[in-house]
Amino acid sequence: MMLAAELALAKVDVAVVERRPDHVLVGSRAGGFHSRTIEVLDQRGVADRFLAEGQVAQVATFATTVLDMSDFPTRHPYSLGIWQNQIERIMAAWIAELPVRIYYGCEVTGFAQDDSGVNVDLSDGPSLRAQYLVGCDGGRSVIRKAAGIEFPGWDPTRSNLIAEVEMAEEPELGIRRDDIGIHGLGRVEYVIRDGEVVYNDGGPVRVMVTERHLGPTSEPTLHELSEALIAVYGTDFGIHSPTWISRFTDMTRQAAAYRAGRVLLAGDSAHVHYPAGGQGLGLGVQDAVNLGWKLAQVVGGTSPQSLLDTYQDERHPVVARALQHTMAQTALQRPDERIQALADVVSELASMDEPRKRLAGIISGLDIHYDLGEGHPLLGRRMPDLDVVTADGRLRVFELLHDAKPVLLNLGEGGGVDITPWADRVQLIDASYKGAWELPVLGAVTAPTAVLIRPDGYVAWVGDRTQRGLPEALTTWFGPPVAA
Ligand SMILES: Cc1cc2nc3c(=O)[nH]c(=O)nc-3n(C[C@H](O)[C@H](O)[C@H](O)COP(=O)(O)OP(=O)(O)OC[C@H]3O[C@@H](n4cnc5c(N)ncnc54)[C@H](O)[C@@H]3O)c2cc1C
Repeated sequence: MMLAAELALAKVDVAVVERRPDHVLVGSRAGGFHSRTIEVLDQRGVADRFLAEGQVAQVATFATTVLDMSDFPTRHPYSLGIWQNQIERIMAAWIAELPVRIYYGCEVTGFAQDDSGVNVDLSDGPSLRAQYLVGCDGGRSVIRKAAGIEFPGWDPTRSNLIAEVEMAEEPELGIRRDDIGIHGLGRVEYVIRDGEVVYNDGGPVRVMVTERHLGPTSEPTLHELSEALIAVYGTDFGIHSPTWISRFTDMTRQAAAYRAGRVLLAGDSAHVHYPAGGQGLGLGVQDAVNLGWKLAQVVGGTSPQSLLDTYQDERHPVVARALQHTMAQTALQRPDERIQALADVVSELASMDEPRKRLAGIISGLDIHYDLGEGHPLLGRRMPDLDVVTADGRLRVFELLHDAKPVLLNLGEGGGVDITPWADRVQLIDASYKGAWELPVLGAVTAPTAVLIRPDGYVAWVGDRTQRGLPEALTTWFGPPVAA
C-alpha cells in the first residue's frame, strides 16, 4: 500500500492485486514501528493519522535492553505502538484518497515478462498487463519464486505460536521466560500509561508462546496452541473461540536480487526474519519509499532503467544489517545460562551511551546511510525536518516532501542556485535556517549552504557555497537536463 501511494503521488497508473477479500487484516500481527518509519509517513503528511490511533513509547529493544531514544534529534524520538490491522486500515483509507485501483479477492499465480512489460496471471479472470510488477506478497512470495530469485539465509531453529483467543480462566498476563523460551499473554485491548502497558479487563487475549520443538509448516491449530500453553503454564486457561492463530519462526532470509528485469520485490517478499525488535513492517515501508519515486521516473521516461539498480544497492545492505541484528537478538534469547551470561553483558553495554545510540540508530532506522560516495556527512543520510523560513513563511522541511517531489533547498544567498534545466522535475526553494545541524548517532555536522533532497527524504547532494557536482547529481537522480 505504501508503494501504491508513492506511485500514485508520482502520477503513475498503479493497481494493487490483493488476495484478501478486503483490507481487513484478521489478527493484530505487528505491534508498531519505529522513528524513521514515522518520519517517512510525516514526509507525506500522514503521520498524524497513525499517531492519533497509537501510543508513543520507548519500546525499541535490543535483546532485553530498552533503548531510550528520547535524546535523538528528530520530531519523533520514540516508537509507535499500533497494531498492524490498525496500520493497514489507516493505510487503506489513505490510498483510497489517491488514484489507486485495488483488485481485492484476486490472487497472482504467476507472470510472463517481455521487453516492454509483464503479463500478470490471476487465479480467475484475464491477466493484467503492466510495465512493471512489484512483488509485495509477503515471505512466501509467489512472485519471488516465479521470478527464480534465490532466497538464501538460515532455516528456522525455533517457532512461536501467536493467537487471539478467548479464555475461560483468568490468564497470567505478562512475559514469562523459562527453559523453552519467551512467552507472553496480554489483553488485545491495552493502553500505555507512564511507559507501562495497562491492560483492559476482559476481552480476547493475545497469546505468544514458544514451542518446545520447531513446529511444522502447516497452519497451526487450536489443539497445538493448547499443547504449547500446557507445556509452559501447566494449563491452557480454557482457550476457545480463536479469531486468529499463526506461527512464526526465526527463519532469516534475504532475496539475492531485488530485481529480475521488470519484476521487483519489496517488504517481506525480499526479506524475512524473527520479529525481535519489531522492524519488519518498517523495513518494508522504507523499501517502498526508496523504490517508488525511482520506479515512477523510469516508467515516466525521465530516468533510465539503471536507476532501479540503486534500489538494491541501497536497500540490500540496510536490511542485511537489520537481519544480522535480529539474529543476534534471537541468539541472546536462547534459554541457556551461558547465553544468559552473555545477554547480561550485552545488556550492560547496550545501556551505555555510545552503544545505546548505535543500536537505537539501527532499530529506529534513523542512522540509515546510503552510499552515495564521499563527502559531507549528510550525503546519503536522511534530511532533518528543520524549521526553515521561506518566501511563504515558516515551514518544516518535511512539508516540502508531501507531494513526493525532489527539492533543492538553497540555504545560501537567495537566487544563488540555478537549476533551470531540471525545473520541471525539481522544486527550488530559497530558505534560511539559523539553528544547529545535528544528526542522530553522528551528532553535530557543519551547516551546508544547499541540499538536494530526494523524494524519499535522503540527501543526494550537499552544497558548500559552490554548485560543484550539482548538475551531475541532478542528472544521476532526476534524469538529464532539458535542452534550453
Ligand atoms: C508476530 C509478529 C510480530 C511482528 N511484529 C512487528 C513489529 O512490531 N513491528 C514491525 O515492524 N514488524 C513486525 N512484524 C513483521 C510484519 O508483520 C511484516 O514484516 C509485514 O507484515 C510485512 O509486510 P508486507 O506487506 O511485506 O507483507 P505481508 O504483510 O505478508 O503482506 C503481503 C500481502 O500480500 C497478499 N498476497 C500474498 N500472496 C498473494 C498473491 N499470490 N496474490 C495476491 N495477494 C497476495 C497477502 O494477502 C498480504 O495482504 C511482526 C510479524 C509477526 C509475525
